[in-house]
Amino acid sequence: MKIVFATNNKNKLREVQSLVPQHIELLSLEDINCTEDIPETQATIEGNAVQKAEYVKNKYGYDCFADDTGLEVDALNGEPGVYSARYAGPQRNAQDNMNKLLEELQNKDSRKAQFKTVIALHLNGKLEAFTGICKGEITLEKHGDKGFGYDPIFKPKDYDETFAEMDLKLKNKIGHRGKAVLELINYLNNL
Ligand code: IMP
Repeated sequence: MKIVFATNNKNKLREVQSLVPQHIELLSLEDINCTEDIPETQATIEGNAVQKAEYVKNKYGYDCFADDTGLEVDALNGEPGVYSARYAGPQRNAQDNMNKLLEELQNKDSRKAQFKTVIALHLNGKLEAFTGICKGEITLEKHGDKGFGYDPIFKPKDYDETFAEMDLKLKNKIGHRGKAVLELINYLNNL
């Protein structure tokens, strides 16, 4: 069975491929010649994941799963959320995004936040969604140089280091994306 993983990140693809049952062959967007930007115009993380999976199914005919992730900050009513990539503007710059977030949180009592990943799976005419959440807090300053995005200012609950200081294996184990992928894999293994 062939399923498209709506990504062009070969590392992500290889990692998930190694975890799914052998009869499932994962294809990247490149593999199906999908080179255009897939629309992500919904107001929620769930909505965007579903939109991407449905786009591939409708336009290319393949069963598909797609992920979408956002950082939800309590004191900002869940922002930047679905706008995480372009929080400080269309340049989608991680440093600008972190600087804006640190500024917005000055004088706020709570620095609680969570990362949320939703994976939407369009398979055999059915739509399923898998969610992974990692709770933590936004630090006062940036720490560490690993990872990407908001990693230098996100410290997961019960840990003393930010995602950007943490070993990648540990981040994948306790992180939002890893948890959502695990849910997906459990589902595929029990088909
Ligand atoms: P995407 O849906 O995976 O493209 O994620 C959207 C945005 O959320 C990214 O551009 C990053 O700013 C942020 N983000 C997603 N995952 C992570 C993560 O694991 N660490 C830090 N930032 C992330």
